[in-house]
Amino acid sequence: MAFWGNKQEGEGQQPPPQIPAPGTGSLEDGYNELVKAKGRAPAIDLAIKLSDLILEYAVRERASDVHIETQGPNLRVRFRVDGILQDMLNSPKNSDIPLTQRIRVLAGFDPEPPTSFRNEEGRFQKMLAGRAIQVRVSSFPTVNGEKLVLRVLDRQQLGLDLDQVGLDQDALTLIKKLIRNPYGIFFITGSTGSGKTTSLYAMLKNINTPMINVITLEDPVEYRLEGINQAQINAKTGFTWAEGLRTILRQDPDVIMVGEIRDFESAEISLRAALTGHLLFTTIHTINAPSIIERLFEMGVPPFLIGSSMLGAMSQRLVRKVCPKCAQNAAPPSEPVVNEFIKNMDPEEGKVVKELILRPGAAYKVEKGCAECRNTGYMGRTGIFELMLMNEDIRKHILDHAPTDMIKRAAIKGGKMRTLLMDGILKARTGTTTLAEIIRVTATMV
Ligand SMILES: [Zn+2]
Repeated sequence: MAFWGNKQEGEGQQPPPQIPAPGTGSLEDGYNELVKAKGRAPAIDLAIKLSDLILEYAVRERASDVHIETQGPNLRVRFRVDGILQDMLNSPKNSDIPLTQRIRVLAGFDPEPPTSFRNEEGRFQKMLAGRAIQVRVSSFPTVNGEKLVLRVLDRQQLGLDLDQVGLDQDALTLIKKLIRNPYGIFFITGSTGSGKTTSLYAMLKNINTPMINVITLEDPVEYRLEGINQAQINAKTGFTWAEGLRTILRQDPDVIMVGEIRDFESAEISLRAALTGHLLFTTIHTINAPSIIERLFEMGVPPFLIGSSMLGAMSQRLVRKVCPKCAQNAAPPSEPVVNEFIKNMDPEEGKVVKELILRPGAAYKVEKGCAECRNTGYMGRTGIFELMLMNEDIRKHILDHAPTDMIKRAAIKGGKMRTLLMDGILKARTGTTTLAEIIRVTATMV
């Protein structure tokens, strides 16, 4: 027991000589080598080696999450890479290598899972590939035993640079101007894993200087940012979104980031703060940028407050980039196929989409698959964006309490807003991704 607790990061990581060095091949190879060393090395050393090996592979494969499943006869390890889970290891389990106990201890849990259910969340930091990788651990008691999920937070992968999130030059120029407003509120929407936290952080980083006071309210604080005052929501102690916001407003802030707005109270405090000389960024859960307004109506926020404080809104998704090593050129889809695709869209919107797909000069690609991309045909991800800027037309619709489709039409027409689909098609036209990927990601707009 003491041994588990005493094993600190950075110490004792050198394997004793009798353990073979991990193979250069797959994680499965590495695991098999460790299994062969059984009995020749202390079980704990094998477990340490195996957990290190899994994390090394996770960073190498750019995995965002690592799933460790030990419920059946097998030890199964899956990585989420570019948003999709892949089997990395599925071999007979070895109870002599106490892998889950090792990870539980790293995460600050007891080595054995609790007998009755308790929510367990922990984190640890590890030096891998020459940099500090933060790992957030969650344990889940399935009926057959424990499942561990490790969220790998690699700042380098994150690239908190606004120029690199995937915004094109026009949108980037607009956003940089918008986030330099002295006051107002800007909303980002997108599903879990859409990259919206990364965008928020990139915006804060872009405007942060010693001359302004930037405060965030988050749940959880995902990445520690230098020079920014980050606070964590804690409902148990009464530090709720609304309470946190009231506290922040007494801290002489210039810029406030509110992790999420989900009720009337925090919405009202935020929008009023935006009217009284503060710049706010926040996220809200809706299917697209224009429907943020309806969501605020539903919460009970008065239209005048929305119309006078809102600077704009952005919706985003992550799409996989086609693998540059194996992608093949593709012809544009035929006109009848496009007509079928747009038949249920708003006619104005459908017209723009059709023109975008069929306009000559596109360099469409189709995915194939090679060793480099693990036969997925894709490598890495980028964002697609729907940027809606406030204008007189939209403001008038807000004051009239107009429904989302009218606001959306006004944004496309007057504000020249590109929808997620339109922005995605532009990225497919340049061969960054494929039309199939854009349709996959934008078809489920929840
Ligand atoms: Zn490839």
